[in-house]
Amino acid sequence: MNNKEIPYKIYLDENELPKQWYNVRADMKNKPAPLINPATHQPCTIDELSHVFCTELAKQELDDTTPYIDIPQEILDFYKMYRPSPLVRAYCLEKALGTPAKIYYKFEGNNTSGSHKLNSAIAQAYYAKKQGLKGVTTETGAGQWGTALSMACAYLGLDCQVYMVKVSYEQKPFRREVMRTYGANVTPSPSMTTNVGRKINAEFPGTNGSLGCAISEAVEAATSQEGYRYVLGSVLSQVLLHQSVIGLESKAAMDKYGIKPDMIIGCAGGGSNLGGLISPFMGEKLRGEADYEFIAVEPASCPSLTRGTFGYDFCDTGAVCPLAKMYTLGSTFMPSPNHAGGLRYHGMSSVLSQLYHDGFMTARSVEQTSVFEAAEKFARTEGILPAPESSHAIKVAIDEALKCKETGEEKTILFGLTGTGYFDMYAYQKYNDGEMSDYIPTDEEIAKSVAKMPKVD
Ligand SMILES: *Cc1c(COP(=O)(O)O)cnc(C)c1O
Repeated sequence: MNNKEIPYKIYLDENELPKQWYNVRADMKNKPAPLINPATHQPCTIDELSHVFCTELAKQELDDTTPYIDIPQEILDFYKMYRPSPLVRAYCLEKALGTPAKIYYKFEGNNTSGSHKLNSAIAQAYYAKKQGLKGVTTETGAGQWGTALSMACAYLGLDCQVYMVKVSYEQKPFRREVMRTYGANVTPSPSMTTNVGRKINAEFPGTNGSLGCAISEAVEAATSQEGYRYVLGSVLSQVLLHQSVIGLESKAAMDKYGIKPDMIIGCAGGGSNLGGLISPFMGEKLRGEADYEFIAVEPASCPSLTRGTFGYDFCDTGAVCPLAKMYTLGSTFMPSPNHAGGLRYHGMSSVLSQLYHDGFMTARSVEQTSVFEAAEKFARTEGILPAPESSHAIKVAIDEALKCKETGEEKTILFGLTGTGYFDMYAYQKYNDGEMSDYIPTDEEIAKSVAKMPKVD
């Protein structure tokens, strides 16, 4: 098809929007390893998971066989407020790079929460409401997930309690205020309101907190209050399922114009946006119907796929959650301060870990300053101020487009632009002032936290 016929933005009509999520696990021959109970090392049952998660979500978590799951009408209605998200042909970036490659990006930042996380937040809040719960608890690091969940809970009239990593709570006061505007109760973590928080505060006075610690507090808050459950914005298989809406829309839009991507690139924190974006394409690859190259991009400071170990690990610092088999740096790994807050988790989705282990996708790690160079280039050409997390994908998309310039190949590249960077101006300031540093953990540091992984046979 002639370039000129492809619009700058490809939209879908309302009747072309996905009505079902796609569960890539159904097409995986090697299923992701089950979550196991940390005490018994037996696979978690629906009953066990239902103490922590909403029952319907616990079912989705354990469902490795149903390929398509209906999106409830109430969620479809909510999606209509901000979906379809634009699929953009990056004509301006292509021109600036002088590349023969065709670059597309799926932009998930066009809602107030500013990221893709709203796609799963509304689903999780919906199932909590349907179960008759009073509210949900969660943690937030960089703040995007807490914001998305606050919006979803406000819409459905659910109470929302957010444990926000203390350093973010202090450094990102505006994120906090957005959450409060949507009615959420935001507590800096570690707090004095939970046993695990009091314990961590006593052990490490003045600590800035961590995601793993905030998770432990949120889980305790959920299990100690009547009518509450815990929800999580990434890593879990149910979250990848909800995020499949990103990939399904992308595929429908590309199919409409007969476009087939050669490579699909996404940033990977816990793996939810990447998993969601690639799911329907991966399904075709797993079924032998088509081939694509999939690339996960992670920060060099927190390289779980590229330098981690594949094994069972704790999902949180307090070790209250089930164990998951994943590529991990060890749950005690403390990434150096990195401005891509949403990519600082020690582990990776079990689904993506298994696919990576089986050779269906590749991974790369990139350094922070090169990521901000790519972000700056993107902002100046395409106009959107990207989130630092998303900019990891931009960096590799640009690298690949420049390779095409050398070889003359006209590859079609699709990448996920997960969000906007308006709340990350502190990071941009560091970059603009030339004060950004690249920290890469040593093998010894990684070995130390990996050695503390639980022994599971
Ligand atoms: C949370 C977040 C990510 C990383 O999370 P995944 O679960 O790996 O997708 C990436 N980009 C943005 C904007 C985020 O908010």
